[in-house]
Amino acid sequence: MVYMSDEHNQDIFHWPIVTDEDEQAVLAVLRAGTMSGTDITKQFEREFADYVGTRYALGTCNGTAALQETFWACGVGIGDEVICPSMTYWASCTSALALGASLNFADIDPETLCIDPDDIEHRICDRTKAIVVVHYAGYPADMDRIMAIAHRHSVKVIEDVSHAQGSLYKGKMCGSLGDIAGTSMMAGKSLVVGEGGMVTTNNRELLERCIAFGHYERTAKSNYAVPSEQIKSENLNLYTGVPLGGVKHRMNQVCSAMGRVQLKHYPRRIAEIQKAMNYFWDRLEGVPGIRAHRVKPDTDSTMGGWYNAHGLYRAEELNGLSCEKFCERVTAAGVPIQCGANFPLHLHPVFHNFDFLHTGKPAMTAFSARDVRQGKGSLSVTERMHDLTFSIPWFKHFIPTIIDQYVEVFKRVINNHNDCCNRTQNKKEMLP
Ligand SMILES: *Cc1c(COP(=O)(O)O)cnc(C)c1O
Repeated sequence: MVYMSDEHNQDIFHWPIVTDEDEQAVLAVLRAGTMSGTDITKQFEREFADYVGTRYALGTCNGTAALQETFWACGVGIGDEVICPSMTYWASCTSALALGASLNFADIDPETLCIDPDDIEHRICDRTKAIVVVHYAGYPADMDRIMAIAHRHSVKVIEDVSHAQGSLYKGKMCGSLGDIAGTSMMAGKSLVVGEGGMVTTNNRELLERCIAFGHYERTAKSNYAVPSEQIKSENLNLYTGVPLGGVKHRMNQVCSAMGRVQLKHYPRRIAEIQKAMNYFWDRLEGVPGIRAHRVKPDTDSTMGGWYNAHGLYRAEELNGLSCEKFCERVTAAGVPIQCGANFPLHLHPVFHNFDFLHTGKPAMTAFSARDVRQGKGSLSVTERMHDLTFSIPWFKHFIPTIIDQYVEVFKRVINNHNDCCNRTQNKKEMLP
């Protein structure tokens, strides 16, 4: 804890917080030369599973790899469909496309920015294998409704927890709510190990399929756990020692060593982030034009580490001032923010034209029974994100005097705009 009082770590935006303890843990791995081992990673997995509240966790080299395993584990393959929100990072779904499935993009809810439960069921067909749920910007998706839909149709739910490590949904941790989950812990996320990912699940069969896909060293007979019936029936353990996905997904132990230290301090650190971010929004409560993107404070749901924090924008309360103009003004006043969020994937040409698998057809239609590609105008909320949301500062420390200064900038921009509009309106009224 030597560096905790270090000016750098006290900086309200600096992240991740790296102390002497992380450095010692990483150095020990480097000095022992055990970067490619699994002993530390297995400890990290145990601690991670305990934190999330699942029976199992499996460390991977990145979040994309974790999600790729979960798709294969859920049986996603040639000719299948996967439902995924369009407004997310590409890694939420591209590896399903690479497995020969097509992606049926769903719209999001304008308040939660997570997949809209009302836009899922009509997309399900007999080839739908999985629904991807992204707890967007830390906001836990409406899992009760989503799980009910999935159960009705025997479809698996894969949580992408990359924005939401530590987010609670009705008292339960994101990553423990669906059939299986994948998360990223790359250097920009709220839980950081460097480059790394994690799969969490309570389902032994799904876990073993993830192991079989990309963790060849764990399928050697000597240390392979007793195979489940499913694994037996598919004879996966006939193929020990070679990863069935043809890939190597092992986590670097420099990362798992850092991860163990980061995880130990994570609950306390995100509690402070939550306090800081909720304070920011409390101070802006009632200001026209902008709304918090957050679960109600003081409930049993939380925003985790508030990764990729956003606000919701309502131009009609600011005389039609566009979100883009609003962001320009706040930025000019000294707080750099941007309108919109992730690019809508359903409009990206990769998901329309690209012949990924050299079949002579776009990957999205190469094997599917129907064409689920969607053009402009198909996902109305997702396509309006540019007008409906904006990024906000991501405070890591609860320092009211500093946060107040940011609050004042937002208030000033909005007040100035309203004063100016009211003046012109009044003037117009006075004209004969
Ligand atoms: C960061 C991210 C990923 C990918 O994780 P990597 O560790 O970068 O491979 C996946 N999904 C979402 C929503 C992300 O934000």
